[in-house]
Amino acid sequence: MRHPLAEIKVSSLRDKQTPPPEFRHLLQELSQLVAYEALRDFQTEAVTVQTPLGPSPGARAARPLVLVPVLRAGLAMADGVLRMFPTAAVGHIGMFRNEETLEPVSYYFRLPPRAGNAHVLLLDPMLATGNSLAAAADRLKKEGIPKMTCACIVASRIGVERLRAAHPDMPIYGAALDEALDERGYITPGLGDAGDRIFGT
Ligand code: URA
Repeated sequence: MRHPLAEIKVSSLRDKQTPPPEFRHLLQELSQLVAYEALRDFQTEAVTVQTPLGPSPGARAARPLVLVPVLRAGLAMADGVLRMFPTAAVGHIGMFRNEETLEPVSYYFRLPPRAGNAHVLLLDPMLATGNSLAAAADRLKKEGIPKMTCACIVASRIGVERLRAAHPDMPIYGAALDEALDERGYITPGLGDAGDRIFGT
């Protein structure tokens, strides 16, 4: 996504002096901006609403929206999107990275009922190696979600390439694209450990 608002907010998010309350707030706002783009193909159906002056054509959601944050940093993204779309249901995927192999390890999975019929947004602020998000999308497909959109905040170029190779049918939206990953699989310059910065750990 290219937008001056997003660039300004990502810069503040990257700043190591930004404390957790402001970091969370910025991440939530950026999640709304990214979701705004990521939901462009969200299906609506026509309705008529009565304004104080008469009938007007309008729209309502044709399908439920399900947010699936990857724990733990994805939770702050879900908070942001829920403010904009309060009726969305929320599933959760617990994944952590084995720090030696950088491979994802799954420890929790739960989806709302009828998620297979919903528009699903997979949320993780950091698309780094792409391994966790690829594993999360694998699992969602295995559980009957035919199609989903991935929303992140900062992505690495290699992570995007890997995720697109693993799931060519999944559109990926983000607010910033960085060139490199360090030897621990962190995005550089990135913003550090998003979960630690959100939760002050
Ligand atoms: N997870 C993070 O929080 N930051 C990174 O740079 C990579 C993965």
